[in-house]
Amino acid sequence: MRKGRLIVISGPSGVGKGTVVKALMEREPEIRLSVSATTRDMRPGEIDGVQYYFVSHETFEQMIAEDSFLEHAQYVGNRYGTPEAPVDRMLAEGRDVILEIEVQGGLQVMQRRPDAISVFIAAPSFKVLGERLRGRGDTDEEKVLMRLQQARTEYLVAPQYHYIVINDRLEDAVSDIQAILRAEALKTEHQQHLLKEAL
Ligand code: 5GP
Repeated sequence: MRKGRLIVISGPSGVGKGTVVKALMEREPEIRLSVSATTRDMRPGEIDGVQYYFVSHETFEQMIAEDSFLEHAQYVGNRYGTPEAPVDRMLAEGRDVILEIEVQGGLQVMQRRPDAISVFIAAPSFKVLGERLRGRGDTDEEKVLMRLQQARTEYLVAPQYHYIVINDRLEDAVSDIQAILRAEALKTEHQQHLLKEAL
C-alpha cells in the first residue's frame, strides 16, 4: 500500500488558510487533518479534540519531555504542537495528512521529514491582507498592525516552502493545492514501479 503524504500548510493570520483547508477537504474527503495540542483558551464553538486538544502548560511540557511532538512552537504567547503518533498512524494507513501550522513548526517538519510537501498560502498583496484583518471585526488598529508585523516575519520564511499559493479566489487556491498534490504524485520518483515493469 502507498504510504500517505505529509502536507504542511502555513500562512499568515487573515490569509484564510483555515477556509482553504476546509474547502480542500470537502473536495478531497480522504485527506486527514492533524489535530494539534495547544495551551490557548478555547474559543466559543470549539470542541476539545476536534479543533485542538486544549491542554495545560504542564501537560504540554510533559508531552515535550515524552518526545510526543513532531514539531512544536510558540505563537503570540501560546504553545502549539503536532502529536506525532496519530500522524504516523494515518500515514501508515495510506492517508495524506495535512498539518495546518505556523512557520516555525513548518520548518521543523521540513527538517525532520524531508519528503513532506510544504505550501505557504499568501494574500494577493499586503494591502489586501490588511483589509481582510480589518474586515474581521477586529477593529483594534493596534492589533491589526501587530498581526501585519507578524505576517511580515512569516513571509520571510516563505521562500523555504516548496510552493506558494495565492488566496485571491478561494476556489482557485483550492484548485492550486489539488494541482500540487496531483503533480507530486506524478513525480518520476513515485512512478518507478511503472518503469521497472518495462525493464
Ligand atoms: P489559532 O490560535 O488562531 O487557532 O492558531 C494560531 C496559529 O497557530 C495558526 O497560524 C495555526 O496554523 C498555528 N498552529 C495550529 N496548530 C499548530 C501546531 O500544532 N503547531 C504549530 N507550529 N502551529 C500551529
